[in-house]
Amino acid sequence: MKYWNEEIETMPLEGMRKLQLENLKKTLEWVYGRIPLYKGKFDAVGFKPEDLKELEDLSKLPFTARTDLRDNYPFGLCAVPLAEVIRIHASSGTTGKPITGPYTQSDLDQWTECMARNLYAAGVRSNDICQNAYGMGLFTGGLGFHQGATRLGCAVIPISSGQTERQILVMQDFGVTVLLCTPTYALTIAERAEEMGVKIKDLPLRIGVFGAEPWTIAMRKEIEERMGINAMEAYGLTECGGPGMAFDCVAQNGLHVNEDQFIAEVIDPVTGEVLPLGEKGELVFTAIQRRAMPLIRYRTRDITTLRREECECGRTLIKMDKIYGRSDDMLIIGGVNVFPSQIESILLEVREIEPQYVIIVKKKGYLDQLHVDVEARQETYDAGPKKIAEVEKMVEGKIRGIIGIGMKIRLVPPKSITRSEGKAKRVIDERKM
Ligand code: ADP
Ligand code: ZN
Repeated sequence: MKYWNEEIETMPLEGMRKLQLENLKKTLEWVYGRIPLYKGKFDAVGFKPEDLKELEDLSKLPFTARTDLRDNYPFGLCAVPLAEVIRIHASSGTTGKPITGPYTQSDLDQWTECMARNLYAAGVRSNDICQNAYGMGLFTGGLGFHQGATRLGCAVIPISSGQTERQILVMQDFGVTVLLCTPTYALTIAERAEEMGVKIKDLPLRIGVFGAEPWTIAMRKEIEERMGINAMEAYGLTECGGPGMAFDCVAQNGLHVNEDQFIAEVIDPVTGEVLPLGEKGELVFTAIQRRAMPLIRYRTRDITTLRREECECGRTLIKMDKIYGRSDDMLIIGGVNVFPSQIESILLEVREIEPQYVIIVKKKGYLDQLHVDVEARQETYDAGPKKIAEVEKMVEGKIRGIIGIGMKIRLVPPKSITRSEGKAKRVIDERKM
């Protein structure tokens, strides 16, 4: 079989829109009658669930923001009695206080279905041996991938993240074929294996399904080459149930959204206006099959574009571009907006350095300045200060040429930047310290 769920994944647009409208209607009624926050929000704009006539009416409703979740922490947005809740996750808290995510049995089943589609599209099959190195626990990554891979019938190793040497031993000894973790942890594993003299390329490992943090196409290529695998992708957020909301396919040029479960919109983050397909903005999701916490027009703060196109994989599900970054991570330097991913793309083209970096934002007088610490490759470092200064200048020039602003590049000694075991912290904002 070509797809995990052929009917949904290849459904013609008209059918999908009809299905979405039905699910959306049900969901609006569900939240209006059960969650005071939503009753208040809908009433404030004079909208009743029965006013929904077509999908476009969704844009008449106000957004849900992260602050709404915080103000209703921990269970104020839960639409069912806790007796019907069978799992509670919480966000990893990359930024701020944890966000809770309750699930009913049907929510858990739908999530597993999404993860199964994601893994299947990545090429994972029942005879695969999956090393699940996403953090197990409150974070949705670990259990989400566990459920999906189990559903496919794979042999799943719930090793969780960390203890990198043991990861490599297990990978070798168990004949692992699929690695599940964040992209930066994959890089950490690749590097540690090289240090241990283990050639991952010679192992049976063939696929990685990476996600939970922004990573560039250049980073994907780097991982693919270093490990000799196909690096595939998963996207999702705790607020909407976790990974599996969107996934890439053989085309590797964007992620298909599980549209029967999530309606995606892209908005102008300043005006809140819905942008036409193809325009870059903030991604907004409405969860139309979740029952414990179905968020309406939730602002993800992730930046991307949406596209409807005929995909070579045959799926009709709408596609979103690889996430450029989070709006929280966007830096504004001298009036120019910069995402860490733009810097990453440039750094990864430079042979003399390792793909390990941190961006430091400093204040000089009234101006904000960017400093980038990036690791020198051993040969570059050994070549001495003259070579190092040369590479620093060259990288500064490349960045000025492409992004249009000056940044101070500093080559730091090999292995001096802390390695990631989960989500990497790329930006240190010294202005806030
Ligand atoms: P947080 O990191 O905010 O504590 P989550 O663990 O729920 O919470 O992470 C969700 C966020 O992770 C998304 O909103 C997005 O910014 C990021 N993310 C997840 N998957 C991807 C991906 N494939 N590409 C880029 N970013 C991703
Ligand atoms: Zn596709």
